[in-house]
Amino acid sequence: MNKDLYLYNSLSRQKEKFEPVNGPFVGMYVCGPTVYSDIHLGNVRTFTSFDIIYRYLVHLGYKVRYVRNITDAGHLTNDQGEGVNRMESQAKLEKLEPMEIVQKYTVGFHSVMNLFNNLSPTIEPTATGHILEQIEMAQDLIEKGYAYEVNGSVYFDVKAYNDKYNYGKLSGRNIDELIAGYRDLDAQDEKRNSIDFALWKKASDAHIMRWKSPWGEGFPGWHLECSVMSMKYLGEFFDIHGGGMDLKFPHHECEIAQNEGATGHSTVKYWMHTNMLNFNGQKMSKSLGNSILPLEMVMGDHPLLDKGYSPMTIRFLFLMSHYSSELDISVKALQDAEKLYKRMMESFKVLELLSNQNELKNNSSGKLDLEIESLINQAYEGMNDDFNTAKTISKLSELNSFIFKIQNKQLDGDTVTLDTITKLQSTYKSLLFEVFGLRDEQEIGSDGKVVDRLMDLIIDIRQNARANKDWGTSDKIRDILQEVDIQIKDNKEGTSWVKV
Ligand code: AMP
Ligand code: ZN
Repeated sequence: MNKDLYLYNSLSRQKEKFEPVNGPFVGMYVCGPTVYSDIHLGNVRTFTSFDIIYRYLVHLGYKVRYVRNITDAGHLTNDQGEGVNRMESQAKLEKLEPMEIVQKYTVGFHSVMNLFNNLSPTIEPTATGHILEQIEMAQDLIEKGYAYEVNGSVYFDVKAYNDKYNYGKLSGRNIDELIAGYRDLDAQDEKRNSIDFALWKKASDAHIMRWKSPWGEGFPGWHLECSVMSMKYLGEFFDIHGGGMDLKFPHHECEIAQNEGATGHSTVKYWMHTNMLNFNGQKMSKSLGNSILPLEMVMGDHPLLDKGYSPMTIRFLFLMSHYSSELDISVKALQDAEKLYKRMMESFKVLELLSNQNELKNNSSGKLDLEIESLINQAYEGMNDDFNTAKTISKLSELNSFIFKIQNKQLDGDTVTLDTITKLQSTYKSLLFEVFGLRDEQEIGSDGKVVDRLMDLIIDIRQNARANKDWGTSDKIRDILQEVDIQIKDNKEGTSWVKV
């Protein structure tokens, strides 16, 4: 088996052999969510892609420190560091403290991650927990001549940086074109150039989230937190930095500028970017108003959907395309994913049955064993080829056909050895459960067949109570279920439930 792992480095724009800076340790930093609203399914796709990358690195034996931050401060609506603070406007809308918004949506984010079986990162630092370090880095950049203070705000001087380094090398943008694009803004700007971005912003009187700094009260710019937290926990040269494709510019470009300005060298070996989840050909995004929430998907509570799709079906849908390809969500794609996911789980169960069949012992010609072994190798090679889960799944699908044929004795009198069945079992176990992070939802159902029946009963009782306008009983049932993290939802077809 080819054990070398290759990954696509967005900075060099080519596939490179993965050679960790300090193997067997691997440092991976992924930009986390801005916790001012529920995350949508597009966000889930990105975090799931990195979960699979993390799981595969661990599977290969690397000791991975996986840092994924929580953006809970100073994320302004405009990427250049202007506009309103999203946390604060949401807090006003919901009549809560900004830190209550942070808490509410951080908890929500974690429960969605659990629902989709994404592992926790090994460190999950927050921007507000690293204000001092951000101030220090801004000061350092001022001292080194890459930043300047004006009216209580600090800006990164992109031109000064570009004189020595190359601003735009990640996103392929050209600094002169960028400056020309921003020119109209120059007159009203306090910055030296509109292309400059905020490291620190002076807080207006109305601003709630504010901290003391050498430049007066203010709050950090968004790009600074990731520079600070990645280097604090992973060092000044670490292996992987990732995020969604839409973060390449300006977020990651600015991070590179800050890091190089401060350290004098590049700080990330491999940049990785995942592609977008689209809806009707357009990037799913809250601001475009076309986002679908994970629970809406699971409950079938969205005009797009014919019914609810389980978290593992959705996870499988993500896996069916390579992380670097766009993925369009549609009922057809979901139906295909549901079918194939179920067939995978089924195949694994058939393998369990076959492993107890003695007749398989000596009747094999050996021909099929070799074919299967080659497919197993190809399935792993898919993962080694830039974590190509789509390739791996297509090889597993071929193996599924073999498995059902072995069970139904449709192999022209030939069969395979028990040894091959054992190899298949361990391949399925490691790829489906360990690396892909799938759960067998049927398994939960059979274990929990009793739970299913009890839930039917509870829902019936609640329906009767509602029909009799016995709101006390119906609310009590809903509240108790909520206490054990079961959400119920009434829709046209009846009542559905999900454990969140
Ligand atoms: P945000 O909270 O907006 O910073 O987004 C969190 C992560 O989700 C980032 O890595 C984004 O790149 C990613 N993301 C946002 N929209 C989508 C989408 N439609 N498909 C995939 N990833 C997305
Ligand atoms: Zn970031």
